[in-house]
Amino acid sequence: MSLRMPEPDTAILRRRPDIVRALRAIVPGDSVIDDVDALRPYESDGLTAYRQPPMVVVLPETTAQVSAILAWCHAEGVKVVPRGSGTSLSGGALPLADAVLVGMAKFNRVLGIDYADRLVVVQPGVTNLAVTRAVEERGFYYAPDPSSQIACSIGGNVAENSGGVHCLKYGLTTNNVLGVEIVLMDGEVVRLGGRQLDPAGLDLLGLVVGSEGLLGIVTEVTVRILPRPEGARALLIGFPDVEGAGKCVADVIAAGIIPAGMEMMDRPAIHAAEAFVKAGYPLDVEALLVVELDGVSAECDHLIEKVAAIARADGSTTLRLSRDEAERTAFWAGRKAAFPAIGRLAPDYYCMDGTIPRRRLPEMLEHMRALSRRYGLDVANVFHAGDGNLHPLILYDANIPGELDRAEAFGDDILRHCVALGGVLTGEHGVGVEKRDLMPVMFSEIDLRQQQRLKCAFDPKSLLNPGKMFPTLHRCAELGRLHVHQGATPFPDLPRF
Ligand SMILES: Cc1cc2nc3c(=O)[nH]c(=O)nc-3n(C[C@H](O)[C@H](O)[C@H](O)COP(=O)(O)OP(=O)(O)OC[C@H]3O[C@@H](n4cnc5c(N)ncnc54)[C@H](O)[C@@H]3O)c2cc1C
Repeated sequence: MSLRMPEPDTAILRRRPDIVRALRAIVPGDSVIDDVDALRPYESDGLTAYRQPPMVVVLPETTAQVSAILAWCHAEGVKVVPRGSGTSLSGGALPLADAVLVGMAKFNRVLGIDYADRLVVVQPGVTNLAVTRAVEERGFYYAPDPSSQIACSIGGNVAENSGGVHCLKYGLTTNNVLGVEIVLMDGEVVRLGGRQLDPAGLDLLGLVVGSEGLLGIVTEVTVRILPRPEGARALLIGFPDVEGAGKCVADVIAAGIIPAGMEMMDRPAIHAAEAFVKAGYPLDVEALLVVELDGVSAECDHLIEKVAAIARADGSTTLRLSRDEAERTAFWAGRKAAFPAIGRLAPDYYCMDGTIPRRRLPEMLEHMRALSRRYGLDVANVFHAGDGNLHPLILYDANIPGELDRAEAFGDDILRHCVALGGVLTGEHGVGVEKRDLMPVMFSEIDLRQQQRLKCAFDPKSLLNPGKMFPTLHRCAELGRLHVHQGATPFPDLPRF
């Protein structure tokens, strides 16, 4: 298994003792880790096929310390990799042999709650679920809910623009973050956005959300909170074929209904989840939708009737409505535990993340079945179906020579097909190292260079998280113009007054 990464800088490696000393001068105590065994827990993130112990780990706890670390590394030409909780599935937090890993675990405080303005200010190491926990007794919650929410950090969510089952109706992280404090690579501290939905000036906050730790280290986040809807009910809808389920998803949205969540599982995923958590899923169907409607009770009941009618027209064979909160939670428990449940089917699985136009779900699944036969590997599917966001889980055994390579090639083909169908390479897990070399499938060289020019405006020495997201590592000075897009007309001279 090989991954093309920048060659470690031997001159930097030789300076490791000096670097450790300099970091200890900034962050005293035991927060600088350089012992080989103590570095092991940091050697990978959720993409565990790739491992690389970092040169050294530092765990700052104030913005001033982050600023001093980055300013020193910038002046000395030392690379930096930011890390939240390390649950990234795209290798975004994968260390580099010659880089300082800045762990944000000690930034774990909720700084303020403002119910009147419906916002919470947190440090980036606070977990996603802890935001909801902080406000739930007053009837509020934080809407984006990745399945990893018990562990993943808000800083990681900002960097990956994370989503979850409720993002269909309530938006991804980018729609729920109002402001950040971010430290740039030269140590400068910048505040972007604020407490309002639409601050003035260029939307640099929009740029930072989803920037995968390439533009700066986020040290504070202001998020929106929402009042819990009066009620929520979930429907389990089973279909004898995935085509009917895919059509039902498209028809519900086309009818103007936006469920709070609309998830789909195929037969292998249904069986794995049911065996694992006993959620009450039907086992005689090929595809299962979990659809949640929320709002005031009268509206909820009305929408449930409409969704049920659409499902029947699309050929559903099973339809169950949650009778109470316990049953609603049970319906979701199966979906939320789908990854670990599928993890019991094979020694390893590779979780993909691509997005397609939702009406093309059935043909995507047909194509995946063909790929599964071609590669000789099973695949189980769990989707954020309402968003067209696929999570195929390719089952393999890393101990069988060549099987991981086949799983990766299978995954690449899935993502290429997502783009061919009019979709994109990622729905929520980010590009990282995992999809980096597929970026040219979606973007032209001109597009990629323009994105890198933006990175250069934040990090002119390309020291922050290099080797992630961009397939080619250009020096900033090399990013000159290529040529004008064919057919593009240059701006005419502006009239002079
Ligand atoms: C079982 C499982 C289920 C998952 N389900 C979902 C899901 O439903 N939806 C979803 O979107 N994702 C999901 N994920 C992926 C992952 O949890 C998210 O991408 C999450 O946002 C990563 O957060 P983290 O704190 O673990 O970040 P890390 O993994 O530590 O880092 C991720 C990226 O963020 C950068 N970063 C971290 N903190 C900062 C900071 N303070 N400033 C700047 N950059 C930073 C890192 O450099 C890296 O590029 C799942 C992962 C697992 C293991």
